[in-house]
Amino acid sequence: MNITTEIKCPGCETEIKVEISKMFSGNTIDCPKPDCNSKLEFEGDDGRDMQDALDGLSKTLKNFGKK
Ligand SMILES: [Zn+2]
Repeated sequence: MNITTEIKCPGCETEIKVEISKMFSGNTIDCPKPDCNSKLEFEGDDGRDMQDALDGLSKTLKNFGKK
């Protein structure tokens, strides 16, 4: 599964597409704009919250399938 989300660059406010699988704590993603040296840093529970949301979604889908 390759789900992407869009995060605004803190430097230039460009919407950067980021794979959710890369949104783990400690990872950084470079802004794709060549004139912007900002990095997106993932800290704390941001990625895990997203993963939890996905887990919840898949659970919901599973339960839905059982009915
Ligand atoms: Zn930027």
